[in-house]
Amino acid sequence: MKWVRSLPFVQSASLHGGELVVSYPFDFSRHPQEERIFSPTPDEQIFKQLARTYADSHATMSNNDTERCGASFYRTRGIINGALWYSFAGGMSDFNYLHTNCFEITVELGCDKFPSEVELYPEWKRNKESLLSFLESVHRGVKGVVRDKDGNGIKGATVSVRGIRKDVTTGKVKLRIGQHLFKAKVGALSREGPGWYLDGRPFSNTRKPGVNVVSE
Ligand SMILES: [Zn+2]
Repeated sequence: MKWVRSLPFVQSASLHGGELVVSYPFDFSRHPQEERIFSPTPDEQIFKQLARTYADSHATMSNNDTERCGASFYRTRGIINGALWYSFAGGMSDFNYLHTNCFEITVELGCDKFPSEVELYPEWKRNKESLLSFLESVHRGVKGVVRDKDGNGIKGATVSVRGIRKDVTTGKVKLRIGQHLFKAKVGALSREGPGWYLDGRPFSNTRKPGVNVVSE
């Protein structure tokens, strides 16, 4: 928790076993009576896209066969909102989303929770493209550095995107705000304090009260 809070992580994946599906936040449904209820984050589109990226590059995850572990995820081709599957409190992807910049998905690698040693190499092969594609997807969107008027990076600045009720905060190193902006297409970055501006190729014409952003 300290680690992910101290560094501006963009994405992460946690590898599990026992099912064949990628689940994404929220894992916890706020509905007091419902255990299985679709609980999207403000970044639903991006989470869905990240989950799709993983499942579609996997050898079998997005196949539409019905011979799967217990639950059937063939209808959604191997992805699901966590709380719609089953709601639970205190999950790491919810924590990461709510308290840091990090977008975490949970990858259920297969029906066998404890595969034998001989299964490890085939398992790696089934997931290699997915893992690489997931890593590559970190380069989507817009990146930038929040600087003061002397050009020094500012730590702890809040960056908001119009239309998405979830801010990100700059870290010590380069801030990646790509995930939010990729879907926002055109948004506005707020300024926190006088004289701050965003420096990065995709950012253009500064207009009050914010900086206009045009993404790919
Ligand atoms: Zn799991």
